[in-house]
Amino acid sequence: MRVSLRNLWRSAAVLSVLTVATTGVFAQAAAQKTIALVGGMLITGREELPINHATVLIQGNRILAVGPMDQVKIPAGATVIDTHTQTMLPGLIDTHVHMVLIGHGDYPTYFKWLDNHQKDYPLSRIMDISAEQLIDAGVTSAVDLGSPLQDILDLRTRINKGMPGPRLQVSGPWLTRHVAIFPDNYQHNVTSPQDAADYVTMLANAGVDVIKAHSGLTRDDYFAIVKAAHAKNIKVHAHIYEEESVRNAFDAGVDVMQHVGSAGLPPYSPALLNDLARSGRPVVPTVYHRAWLYPDTIQFPERLDDPQFKGELGEPLYTEMMNSFKNFPSLSYFQRVDREEFFGDKSIRQWIDSGTVVGMGTDNGTPANFHKDALWREIKVFVDHGMPPMRAIIDATRVNARNIMGNRDLGTIEPGKLADIIAVDGNPLYDIAALGNVKVVVKDGVIYKGGPKAEKNK
Ligand SMILES: [Zn+2]
Repeated sequence: MRVSLRNLWRSAAVLSVLTVATTGVFAQAAAQKTIALVGGMLITGREELPINHATVLIQGNRILAVGPMDQVKIPAGATVIDTHTQTMLPGLIDTHVHMVLIGHGDYPTYFKWLDNHQKDYPLSRIMDISAEQLIDAGVTSAVDLGSPLQDILDLRTRINKGMPGPRLQVSGPWLTRHVAIFPDNYQHNVTSPQDAADYVTMLANAGVDVIKAHSGLTRDDYFAIVKAAHAKNIKVHAHIYEEESVRNAFDAGVDVMQHVGSAGLPPYSPALLNDLARSGRPVVPTVYHRAWLYPDTIQFPERLDDPQFKGELGEPLYTEMMNSFKNFPSLSYFQRVDREEFFGDKSIRQWIDSGTVVGMGTDNGTPANFHKDALWREIKVFVDHGMPPMRAIIDATRVNARNIMGNRDLGTIEPGKLADIIAVDGNPLYDIAALGNVKVVVKDGVIYKGGPKAEKNK
């Protein structure tokens, strides 16, 4: 079993005097070192051909130089990571995650279990596990859409201070008029447009990065929510399915349409698709999490009991999660999956064919939709339906960074940008599933996975 990044961070935080000597993670950050990733193919995140046998030079937390390896000089003393036979690309970004969920099969059972195990499994521990799983899978940034407010703000702070995990944008509790089967502190029950606006202002003042408008909201609610959020300069993500809800959210100026087309509904009207495409506003269709996850898991149930879970979750959570999958086909989460499968292909094609801006997000943490593999599976569904692999990779990196997170410092590998870079085995342009074989993860100039042997053995 590999060393837990989280435990390394915790011990490093306690023994701060020794951190430079004992942990690669902290040594890298402290010394503003130079790192060179050398030899692999490079996908920059821009619309251009990959650079073969490339070198990426990092200094501190920024990218210093990029180019063919015979043209980029590596300074003496640089930490060199050999990426031959690999592909380097910008760190992946997932624009719909749930840090409080781990893929357990049944929400009511899971939340009751957490209630009964608060001492050993406080929410902070669950979220730290999710954070580690995401960074290990090459997800260097993510948008969390629905957690208790203080818990998720605290997680963002821990990660910003150096704990392994993706850079986070967080929404805190969502706003809804259909209270879901989640505990009360995950959601605010909207009673009027004014009430919705007041709640948005409260969240913005508390420090959230985005707002999540959940289901059942009226047209006036959307207008009130968007107005209040934009007054604070933050974006609104809407959880929407039906044509009328999408139209209301779109007209009100919602910035990101989440889930659209993924609930077993026929494709949207040409007028709505045309408006979405022409607006340039992104959709995040979250297609994999039921319509493809279900048949994949029925065909290959082996994916459910990855031994890595045992070390990451610990006991008794590991056993509890495995028990939740015992009768997988009967889980209530999948009871409408036949309709989703029926409309699935058309649903995806509508986005590819209309030219709508697509962001990649997974809703991960939902039943059997694991942090460790949700994003490459989501990307693969689009590629399997005709999206060019380069397009899909750019959607999961540059489009997610700029069009959704509003961050122009992320999403491409070019001099001056923040150093969030991963390397995967093989060529994802040939086989997109290569994105599931993450060998190197660098975030903010810090090596989280796959450093040179000498460093890992220190
Ligand atoms: Zn969600």
